[in-house]
Amino acid sequence: MNTQTKLAIVSISLVIPLVSLVIYSTDSPQQFKSNDTLKLQVISSFYPLHEFSQYIGQDKIDTILLVPVGVEPHDWEPTIKDVQRIQKSDLIIINGIGFEHWVENFDKKNYRGKIIDTSSGIKIKNLGELNDLGDPHIWLNPVYAKTQVQTIANAFSESDPKNQQFYQNNAASYIDKLNELDLKIRDELSNCDNDFIAFHDAFSYFADEYNLNQHTIIPSNNPHGEPTAKTLEHIISLAQKLNIHIIYGEENTDSRTSKVIANEIGGRVLTLSTLEVDSDGTYFSKMSTNLDYLKESLC
Ligand SMILES: [Zn+2]
Repeated sequence: MNTQTKLAIVSISLVIPLVSLVIYSTDSPQQFKSNDTLKLQVISSFYPLHEFSQYIGQDKIDTILLVPVGVEPHDWEPTIKDVQRIQKSDLIIINGIGFEHWVENFDKKNYRGKIIDTSSGIKIKNLGELNDLGDPHIWLNPVYAKTQVQTIANAFSESDPKNQQFYQNNAASYIDKLNELDLKIRDELSNCDNDFIAFHDAFSYFADEYNLNQHTIIPSNNPHGEPTAKTLEHIISLAQKLNIHIIYGEENTDSRTSKVIANEIGGRVLTLSTLEVDSDGTYFSKMSTNLDYLKESLC
């Protein structure tokens, strides 16, 4: 490693808080339509769950995405206004596994609705080997996304039984699309290499499902912390050893670290989406772009 790279690494690892670079939206929060109180009032905690809820409920529900567009959900906390909106809902759809820290402090005694944990029934991994914190990134594995979709459909059906068939049919059609995506990923990665370097520990469930080895720039035991000079040096030598030429950056995070590593190994940066931050595109469009970018490195 040359001196310039070393300096770049040190300045990045000491000075720049990488994961916190998100665009804060000033949009006023959406409100439930007050004249339509017969519809199920649904709050989804972050983008993928919002898309699943909309697809399943369509015009039979009012659904609100809690974390605003452009905001990273890991560290988000609700405002007093958000708490009021949450209190008025019939269902709160959460990822679970500690992803929504605010749920711990939410006043459940005064809430008339239900909190639906979409991680129920999914086998949770820990973040890193020496860590008993659960890894929340289940939605990035389409097989687990199917469970989340079915859990949401069941919750809608139970709270609004007259539209049960509608919710279950829509869930079945979304699950068909997830099955197609799953087969496509399995098929297209089947004869390729296994090791890739992601930014934070978001693709562990995806990697397990499709027989890949995820290495991360941000250490696994602190998935939303900052890279240290030591981890960067480790990643650079790992990339050289494994003959890796593509380093993944991540949508809505600073890509400087990935660029420093890519420069050092004479490679380039491609950006994966973790779907954590709402932006253009759908679950399927983003997952298929992720697949295309992974194939560039692995196949
Ligand atoms: Zn994450």
